[in-house]
Amino acid sequence: MKRQAKLLISSLFFAAVFCARRARALFGIRLDRGLTILYYHGVPANDARQFAHQMGLLARIAETVPASWQGHASAASSQSARPLVAITFDDALQSVFDNALPVLQRLNLPCTIFVPSGWIGQVPGWDIEGETHHAEPVATAETIRELDAAMVTVGSHTASHPRLSTLPADRIDDEIRMSRVALAALTGTNVDLLALPYGDYDERVVQACRSAGYRHVFTIQPQEITLGPDGFERGRVAVEPDDSLWEFYLKASGAYRWMRVASAIKQKLLRHAG
Ligand SMILES: [Zn+2]
Repeated sequence: MKRQAKLLISSLFFAAVFCARRARALFGIRLDRGLTILYYHGVPANDARQFAHQMGLLARIAETVPASWQGHASAASSQSARPLVAITFDDALQSVFDNALPVLQRLNLPCTIFVPSGWIGQVPGWDIEGETHHAEPVATAETIRELDAAMVTVGSHTASHPRLSTLPADRIDDEIRMSRVALAALTGTNVDLLALPYGDYDERVVQACRSAGYRHVFTIQPQEITLGPDGFERGRVAVEPDDSLWEFYLKASGAYRWMRVASAIKQKLLRHAG
């Protein structure tokens, strides 16, 4: 679907949800706060200014929390209308360290970086279809080791960045276990989050990640996560550092989550047609 069409539908969706929320608030019904998780790839120097504008907006309109956030009673029942948002980056590209992290640090916003452990310090050689990519290297081991663990969580993005659902069981296991061990050794922290390359997975992949000790896996289906005991799989919304502030605002407000429903309906229709 075209970007402009998505933007239009999201704007309408936002207006409808906003009205419904206002109505509930007027009648004194408690509002639950959901968590929206954003994902970027690189933040090239050309887009650094716009990225800084996006983060400035986020700091004003949202409460930014880590991607593993479970919520707590006081926040979930809070009357605050500020959306809960988490920021993630896939592929650990060097431009994120150069252009994004200084902005996040200045604004005190936490984030998670998902590292493909077999490509550290190299220019990505994986199939880049469907991923915005700028022919820049994955950050070096040195750079990743020096991250401030209080602000930046390191997660796994597998070892070689394959489509996990196409692999036999033992290769899936190798990919998710080796990267977990390598990144834990590099950072000295427990690595228990994994972003699925290309958002590709099936039931076997999910089971393998569970038994390898991961706490959550992150997909690329927009989703608002309900706080409290929740699912193992967490959906995310794609953001680009050159998104306009209105588009970014809608994404951060969870207005793109209709896409998950739309894609489920499309899958169902395709199955019936085929
Ligand atoms: Zn990736």
